[in-house]
Amino acid sequence: MTPPTNANLTDDRPTFTSHLECSATGEPYPADRLHGLSTEGKPLLVRYDLAALGAALSKETLAARPADMWRYREFLPVRQTENVISLGEPMTPLVPLPNCARELGVGEILVKDESRLPTGSFKARGLCVAVSMARELGISRMAMPTNGNAGAALAAYASRCGIESFVFCPEDTPDVNVREIALQGAKVWKVNGLINDCGRIVGDGKEAMGWFDTSTLKEPYRIEGKKTMGLELAEQLGWTVPDAIFYPTGGGTGLIGMWKAFAELAEIGWLDEKRPQMVCVQATGCAPMVKAWEEGADHAELWTDAHTIAAGIRVPVAIGDFLILRAVRESGGYAIAAPDEEIIAAQQEVAARDGLLMGPEGATTYAALRRAVSEGRVGKGDQVMLFNCGTSLKYPMPAVARVIDRHQPIDYAAIAAG
Ligand SMILES: *Cc1c(COP(=O)(O)O)cnc(C)c1O
Repeated sequence: MTPPTNANLTDDRPTFTSHLECSATGEPYPADRLHGLSTEGKPLLVRYDLAALGAALSKETLAARPADMWRYREFLPVRQTENVISLGEPMTPLVPLPNCARELGVGEILVKDESRLPTGSFKARGLCVAVSMARELGISRMAMPTNGNAGAALAAYASRCGIESFVFCPEDTPDVNVREIALQGAKVWKVNGLINDCGRIVGDGKEAMGWFDTSTLKEPYRIEGKKTMGLELAEQLGWTVPDAIFYPTGGGTGLIGMWKAFAELAEIGWLDEKRPQMVCVQATGCAPMVKAWEEGADHAELWTDAHTIAAGIRVPVAIGDFLILRAVRESGGYAIAAPDEEIIAAQQEVAARDGLLMGPEGATTYAALRRAVSEGRVGKGDQVMLFNCGTSLKYPMPAVARVIDRHQPIDYAAIAAG
């Protein structure tokens, strides 16, 4: 027998899922069965026997485990180790931006750099758990609409365990995304519309195609994978939380998931009552949540004519809108948008000052922080966490035109001047 390569993936970990629950009505649904949305058409949330979980797991036990996402097995729904489909999901670092913090006059800026996960984005966390659960529940076909990163993660994990995957992207999705999805074994199409138009094709095709609709929050387990960001950052900060979390919000799975993580950790006594302000960050060209927050609404309206270079957060309508708004309100946070020019400037600023190249979505959080500071919303000594959710290397970068002719005398003075 080959020894296990990862102690987090051995059979000695108990599981604690008790049931699922409608996020709108609280109506319970049985665990270990196939579910999409609740009968109300709302997302389902996984509930655990947290008293038993807290009794079975200590912080010390956790601290001794390998540094990957599956160290949080007890907080995740997969029952059988054999169903865990993993590509190696490392804990991601908290990268400080000391030069930027000094410039903005903020106590500390930490970037949770999620670009280091498989397929180059935090979509891997969600799809790793969703595909593992799909395998546990006997699903053989999965489909989703995507702006790119979620499709790549679905393709990778599904192919790894022989599940067929079908992916639909808006026609202007960058080629690199569409191609990586295809290379990783999914059947992928470009659609002349936005992500919600792609979502309709997935939803309407359920009967004819017999596929499982893996759209954001239409299946219950992606959020559990994204929840591990909250568990992880709290552990990395010695079981505390920052003063504010700036999150680039599309469908909002990560924001909702982290909020759930903090509640679960508090329930087992690992966090005190302090919560971070959850700051929902969007781009000005697609800011339905910001509009809803400013209007004091519980739901967001469809954003027409959505456009931004931050493709991962170009989501005109989110089924979990009320959960995003609820988390932002309960946390004493706010919703804020930044325009594309400021996103581009932010990307350059962080890369040139502190050497971290953020994707446009991550850079949006820095642009939003800059605005929040100028509006007096951030305390001088605050510890602020930004999320860089995907690698910048999948995006086109500004061209560099400088060349050297090695047959001519080299002009070192010109090189020094840059
Ligand atoms: C999907 C995505 C987001 C938005 O995440 P949600 O949790 O769905 O709101 C942000 N940035 C990148 C790079 C993404 O791929």
